[in-house]
Amino acid sequence: MRIAVVPGDGIGQEVVPAALPALTALDEAFGLGISHDVFDWGADQWLATGVGLPAGAISRLARDYHAVFLGALGDPRIPDMAHGRDILLGLRRGLDLYVNYRPIVLKHGVIDLYRENTQGLYAGVGGSIARSGAVTVAIDECVYTRDTVEGFVRFCLGRLREQHRRKVTLVHKSNAVPNTGRLWQDVFWRELEAFPELVGSEEYVDSFCYNLVRDPTPYEGVLAPNLFGDIISDIGAALMGGLGLASSASICPETDFALFEPVHGSAPDIAGKGTANPYAAAMSLVLMLDHFGHGTAAGLLRDCLTEAAGSEAATPDLGGGGSTRQFMAKVMELLDRKLSALPDLPTP
Ligand code: ATP
Repeated sequence: MRIAVVPGDGIGQEVVPAALPALTALDEAFGLGISHDVFDWGADQWLATGVGLPAGAISRLARDYHAVFLGALGDPRIPDMAHGRDILLGLRRGLDLYVNYRPIVLKHGVIDLYRENTQGLYAGVGGSIARSGAVTVAIDECVYTRDTVEGFVRFCLGRLREQHRRKVTLVHKSNAVPNTGRLWQDVFWRELEAFPELVGSEEYVDSFCYNLVRDPTPYEGVLAPNLFGDIISDIGAALMGGLGLASSASICPETDFALFEPVHGSAPDIAGKGTANPYAAAMSLVLMLDHFGHGTAAGLLRDCLTEAAGSEAATPDLGGGGSTRQFMAKVMELLDRKLSALPDLPTP
């Protein structure tokens, strides 16, 4: 299994190298056959050469790799995030990563949040009219195709069934955004007929956000169009205890290719200080291991991260005094201990 590693910008360049040794340790212990190559796509390359995602990158990734592990994109020198859009949207669209999975890990359990990742208000359809240099009309269209909504809903319901979840909620705003809203409702209820073990419900996004913050415990699986899912996932990160804890996977159901990344951005305010929390980046590796069927390895790393987050090595965003390195050193120490306690590990 080959992984393309893109540390990117800001704290991405700190949390990605900090997290990778955990993957290497698990690979060696379990003989997983994972290798990786590092790509320097990001702000520095964009400023030096004007290139974000290099020509041919998509076909090379699709041919030679199984996944991307991305840190973060964003740089104060590029205020409009042109390079970030080029790279991240290029990867999402080019590899058709239209399912975005963002688990919200809470004390009572996990809410499996799925966000459509390529269409809706992020489809890039629209334009603006300017008069004397000032924009007078601005249009961003919300575009959904039935194929994508069907593929998304079917895949997510299948994953929820695999995970033995019982409840699934569709989030929309069909009272105010009726056309795409009704398409989502129609597809959701039709597809749900093939999953009798799941009980469906639907909520308007505003009331859903209110209910989620007041009491998240009733929710198990949540399906959301692009913009709503983006906003809900940040609320989810806040409920979890901060952006340093939230991880995500963007998946193409047809090819199984996936991109794993922390939800946070490049955090220029703390970049270079060595205090960024690598938990979310390392948890993205847990999602990667799970995605490729290495559940035992994923579970071990997940347990070590949870334990380290509750220890003195926790980073300042979690109220601790640890640095990025100290936190991962703690994770590696726990991992070594757990790995050496395991019986019958294959010889690498
Ligand atoms: P970008 O423009 O790249 O999205 P941003 O600063 O607008 O960057 P984030 O990078 O998501 O957005 O950061 C938002 C806030 O959360 C910042 O104050 C940052 O310090 C904090 N933060 C984000 N990620 C982490 C992390 N891994 N560890 C500690 N703090 C974090």
